[in-house]
Amino acid sequence: MIGKILIANRGEIALRILRACRELGIKAVAVHSEADRDLKHVRLADESVCIGPASSKESYLNVPAIISAAEVTDSEAIHPGYGFLSENADFAEKVIQSGFIFIGPRPETIRVMGDKVAAIAAMKSAGIPCIPGSDGPLGDDPEENIAIARRIGFPIIIKAAGGGGGRGMRVVHSEGHLMAAITLTKGEAGAAFGNDMVYMEKFLEDPRHVEFQVIADSHGHCVHLGERDCSMQRRHQKVVEEAPAPGISEEKRQEMGARCVRACLEIGYLGAGTFEFLYQDGEFYFIEMNTRVQVEHPVTEMVTGFDIVKEQLLVASGKKLSFAQSDVRLRGHAVECRINAEDARTFIPSPGLIEQFHMPGGPGVRVETHIYNGYRVPPYYDSMIGKLIAHGEDRQSAIARMRTALNEMVIGGINCNIPLLLDIINDPGFEAGGQNIHYLEKKLGLKH
Ligand code: ADP
Repeated sequence: MIGKILIANRGEIALRILRACRELGIKAVAVHSEADRDLKHVRLADESVCIGPASSKESYLNVPAIISAAEVTDSEAIHPGYGFLSENADFAEKVIQSGFIFIGPRPETIRVMGDKVAAIAAMKSAGIPCIPGSDGPLGDDPEENIAIARRIGFPIIIKAAGGGGGRGMRVVHSEGHLMAAITLTKGEAGAAFGNDMVYMEKFLEDPRHVEFQVIADSHGHCVHLGERDCSMQRRHQKVVEEAPAPGISEEKRQEMGARCVRACLEIGYLGAGTFEFLYQDGEFYFIEMNTRVQVEHPVTEMVTGFDIVKEQLLVASGKKLSFAQSDVRLRGHAVECRINAEDARTFIPSPGLIEQFHMPGGPGVRVETHIYNGYRVPPYYDSMIGKLIAHGEDRQSAIARMRTALNEMVIGGINCNIPLLLDIINDPGFEAGGQNIHYLEKKLGLKH
C-alpha cells in the first residue's frame, strides 16, 4: 500500500482525500498557496508545504513546485482531486517520470479523453452511443460542412475538440449561419484552448444530464456504480445532483453501466471515472468522459455504500477493487446541494470571514466542507465552499431531509446560495423529478 500521499488540491476535496488517507493509515501531505495557510486540511495534514502565491497559476497549477514538494516530503503518490491539474495529461506524465504514482488513469487515457473528437471516436468504437455528428474535425470547405449539417439535421452545435467548462460551443439553427459560426468557434477555441479543432453534433433541445460512475483496478476488474442526474445547472455548472436518476429503469441502468464497463476494459482504464451523457426521449448520448473524481461523487457513495476515494487509493496502490459488480446494490436515494459563497440572487461571489457556522445533522445528512467558524473564504478560487448531501429510503425522504438540513445550516458573515438551494428543493418541478438541463435557468428567468 502507498505510505504517503501528496494532495495537490485545496478546499473540501483536499479534506475529503485527507480523510480517506487517515482511514487507510496513509500519511498525507498538504500543499497550499500563501492565501490558504488556514485551510482545514492544511492544519490536519501530517506535513504541509507552501507552493506559491495566491494565484492558482503560481500555486495549484505550478507543476514544478508540486513535484518538488513531493520530493522534499518523500511522498509516494499525488492525488490531483478535481479541477486544477486533475485532467492534465502532461502533469500526470511528469508525476510518473519523476518517480511518483499519479492517482488517476494513465496519461495516454487522459490525453485521449481531453480531446473530444478522439474521445468520441474511442467511445463509438467501444460501443458507447454518441450524438449523431461529423465524426471528426470540420474542414474549411463550406459545401462539405453544409452537407454534414444537412445529414445531421438542424439545429446543430459546433464544439471545440479541446473545450471544457461549458466554453467553446455554438448552436446553429440554419444553413445561412453555419460557416460564420464555424469560423467564430474556431477562432475562440484557438485563443482559449490553443487548439482550433472544432466538430459538429446534433443539438439536442431538451436533454437531461445523466452520468455513470465507474472504477477500475489494474487487475482487469471494472465496476459501475450506477448513475447520477445532474440536470439542475446554471451556465453549465451543476447546482444540485442526485442518485439514482429519476425514471431510469434497473434494466436500462445495467445495460448502460455494462457498456461503460466494457469500454473501460477495452481502453485499459484505471481508477475512477465518469461517462457523461445527454439523455433525451429514453436514449443516452455520450458527451464526454471525466477522468477524475467528481464533485458529486458523494451521492453515489450514499446509495451504494462504497467509498470512491478510498477505492481510488487502493487501485492506485496496485490493489484489487474491494468489491465486485454483484456487490453493488442501490439503496434509497441521495441528493447533493453545492454550497457557494455567492449572492443567492445575483451570483456575485462573496468571499470573506465566516462569522458563524452551524452544521446541520440528523439521519442521512452528510456535510463535506472545509469551512469553520473564523475561517476567511479567499477571493482567488472557485466559490464552492462545501456540499450538503442527504440520503433517504426514497427520493421523497431524501428531499425532505435536504430541506430540513438546508433550513438548519447557518453560514454567517458572507452571502451564500442556501436560499436558492431551498428554492430548488421546494420547487414542484424538481420535486416531480426528471427535469431537463434548461429547467433551472428557465425558472430563474435567465432563459425562455
Ligand atoms: P464541457 O467539457 O465544456 O463541459 P460538454 O461537452 O460536457 O462540454 O458539454 C457541456 C454542456 O453543453 C452539456 O452539459 C450540455 O448542457 C451542452 N451540450 C453539449 N453538447 C450538446 C448537444 N449536442 N446538444 C445539446 N446540448 C449540448
